[in-house]
Amino acid sequence: MIVPAPGQVDVVTEARPSLESDEALVSLQVAGVCGSDLHGLHGTHPTMKPPYYPGHEVVGIIEALGDGVTGLAIGQQVTPEPPLPCGHCKMCTTDRSNICENLQFFGCGFREGGMADVFSVRADRLHVIPEGFDLRMAALIEPFSTPLHAVRLAGDITGKAVAIIGCGTIGLLMLAAARAKGASRIVMTDVLESKRQGALALGADAVVDSTTADVAARVRDELGETADVVFDCVSIQPTVASAIDMVQRGGTVVIVGVPSKPIEVPAFVLQDRQVRLQGAATYVSEDYADAIDIIAAGGIDAEHLITASFPLEQTAEAFAAAASGDHIKVLVTGTGVTLD
Ligand SMILES: [Zn+2]
Ligand SMILES: [Zn+2]
Repeated sequence: MIVPAPGQVDVVTEARPSLESDEALVSLQVAGVCGSDLHGLHGTHPTMKPPYYPGHEVVGIIEALGDGVTGLAIGQQVTPEPPLPCGHCKMCTTDRSNICENLQFFGCGFREGGMADVFSVRADRLHVIPEGFDLRMAALIEPFSTPLHAVRLAGDITGKAVAIIGCGTIGLLMLAAARAKGASRIVMTDVLESKRQGALALGADAVVDSTTADVAARVRDELGETADVVFDCVSIQPTVASAIDMVQRGGTVVIVGVPSKPIEVPAFVLQDRQVRLQGAATYVSEDYADAIDIIAAGGIDAEHLITASFPLEQTAEAFAAAASGDHIKVLVTGTGVTLD
């Protein structure tokens, strides 16, 4: 599968990748369509520009292993951690490989992506899927790791008042992450009534229409206090401004959504009221492990979150469905794979 130019998804047949000694060859079972895939498709992603090979939320089966790979076996079900860090820069050697100075990213501008019958990927990036996971649960490990990393950066949120801006896929996974990490009360906002209802169904304590003029005050009312942490899963000018207003003082605003344009912030408010503005970029291996543990314990409702699936050759339709706004998470399935 390739996105050759903005707005276009094509099936291409290419030679099977030749396997380096540190790589695994993996056949596709399922791949999630991500918001960043859609930004890439529409040419609005800051770094991911066509042409690119999509697919970074991937689950598959190991078909072959390079001769230098140990600790893995053919036939194992795996999910790759798609960031491909260099391993030796300042960030990599201080447990921040997600912001590696030489980062490449499988499925996001890399020479391969996971929306393919088979793909090769560095074997040290593979996590083995535990017993008892169905394909839906396994497909959510990657997207669930992003909000878990955002929580990790925010600090201990046990007993804290949390607001989440955006009730889309990441917002709903953010809700599950904040819940799993012990937030006392979680209020969510969205422009769409249907999305707000979806957030309530998945356990938000209250929702607020983000088109109301006093959205920040309404969120504080629903929380019963100022927000300790706001996770902005939309990241546009009005949401960042209202996130800072929800916190008011002494709290943290985490930028989780990918901003497609520069955003102005009231720097005086950040300084004078000790508001922390924190960026959050993907995840590190600990977040993957955390995601696996929480999903295994029933911490996310995979049945409810995955709303459509398409066979691999209909990836263009899957992208269109994901872009329609009618779905939470859309999957593509590998040849002969059906969701049970
Ligand atoms: Zn993604
Ligand atoms: Zn590095």
